[in-house]
Parts: sequence; structure tokens; C-alpha cells
Amino acid sequence: TIAQPALKRILLKLSGEALMGDDQFGINRATIVRMVEEIAEVTRMGVQVAVVIGGGNIFRGVAGGSVGMDRATADYMGMLATVMNALALADAMDKQGLTARVMSAIAIEQVVEPYVRPKALQYLEEGKVVVFAAGTGNPFFTTDTAAALRGAEIGAELVLKATKVDGVYTADPQKDPSATRYAKLTFDEAITRNLGIMDATAFALCRDQRLPIRVFSIVKSGALKRVVMGEDEGTLVYA
Ligand code: UDP
Repeated sequence: TIAQPALKRILLKLSGEALMGDDQFGINRATIVRMVEEIAEVTRMGVQVAVVIGGGNIFRGVAGGSVGMDRATADYMGMLATVMNALALADAMDKQGLTARVMSAIAIEQVVEPYVRPKALQYLEEGKVVVFAAGTGNPFFTTDTAAALRGAEIGAELVLKATKVDGVYTADPQKDPSATRYAKLTFDEAITRNLGIMDATAFALCRDQRLPIRVFSIVKSGALKRVVMGEDEGTLVYA
């Protein structure tokens, strides 16, 4: 018998930086293609995948704020940056045989359709990949919070936070060679040990909704598949 995935519906959070690859900014096509291959693989296994995409590779609200821009305006720019990333991601998905639907939290209907929850659920049931763009649609939030929010809304079993490091460590593994990876820890342990896994708003939302988060490496080949197969990959944060 063929092993079945342990998860039916997941919310994958990809940061804008994940799309840069080894570039300094922007979108690295080869990196996107490789990531989409991994997503396609789990989709073919029958896992419903929704993605929240960040925008940090293009623009961050705090960066605008730090040079004297109105913070809310800068945040809207950041949200628009996530729409660009979403378009690039969905394009790569379509090219690799997936059917992607971008849904935006900000109305820009000539470009992408607006986020409508029942429609997103319908797409997922149909095996389409839904890419959530424009974060929560509100300034002063992050796409991590959008991931927690949409994850809760669509009833995802797990929020997958893709990072460049393969989990949560006792210290920064780049700086401290004795740092070890946590296989799993509770939300409370993560707070007590001051492990910045997601921003506080995102983290609180996941904790309240008892929505587990798994931090894993998007750089490591096959990691996404191992996660959906229920293998010990990265770090699980649970209630
Ligand atoms: N942003 C926002 N509200 C949201 C999500 C994002 O204002 O709900 C803005 C914010 O300025 C942020 C930028 O969009 O800096 C890009 O998102 P984020 O920093 O979360 O991207 P990532 O770090 O995942 O690439």
C-alpha cells in the first residue's frame, strides 16, 4: 500500500525572502520553480494547499517608515508587493500543471479576485492551490498574521512556516555551533524561552485557536513532503 499523507489541508507561509533564492532582492525564477515542484508533489498526494505569500523581498512597511514615510502608506505598499509575488508564484504553478487561484485581501479586481472565504474553500476542495495575497488587508499587520488568520479561517490542520533554517533552535545555529533543534515545543514554552517564531499577533492567534505551527526549511529538498507525511521535520509548536 502507498503511504497516505497525515494532513488533508495545510496553510503554507512563504516569506518574500524565500522567493529571492541567493539574490539580494526580487524574485528568483529558479527558486520559485523548485518551490512549486515541492508544492505540486504534495498536491498530487491529495493534500489541499493554501499559501500566504510575504513581500519582504520587494518592500516592507517598516523600511518605508524608517525613512520618514507614513507607516500605513508604506504598509499598503508592502501589501501590494505581496500581490506581485503571488502573481509570480501562481504563474509558476500554472506552468507546472497546478491550478492556482490568487485571492487578494485588497480589492484590485482587474488583477486578481478578492478574497471570499467560501470560494477559497471551494477551490481547495477542487484541488486548486489558493494563494492569499495582500496579507490581512490591514496596515500594521504582517503576512505571518495573515497566515494564522487564513489558516484558522479555512480550517487548516497546520500552519507551515517555511524559513531558511530547518526549525527552531536553542540559539542561532549560524553563530552558536552548540545550538540544537527543538523537535517540538508548546506555545507556552516558546514564549517562556523567548523564541521569536512568528510575530506576537500571529503567535497569539495560533495559540488561541490551537492551530499548530511547523517551522521547516524550504531550502531542504523534500522537506514539505516529509512534513505532510507526518515525519519529524523541522520544529512543531503546539498547544
Ligand atoms: N503588510 C501589512 N499588513 C498585512 C501584511 C503585510 O501591512 O496584513 C505589509 C507590511 O508592510 C509588511 C509587508 O506588507 O512589511 C510585507 O509583508 P511581510 O513583511 O509579512 O513579508 P515577509 O516578511 O513574509 O516577506
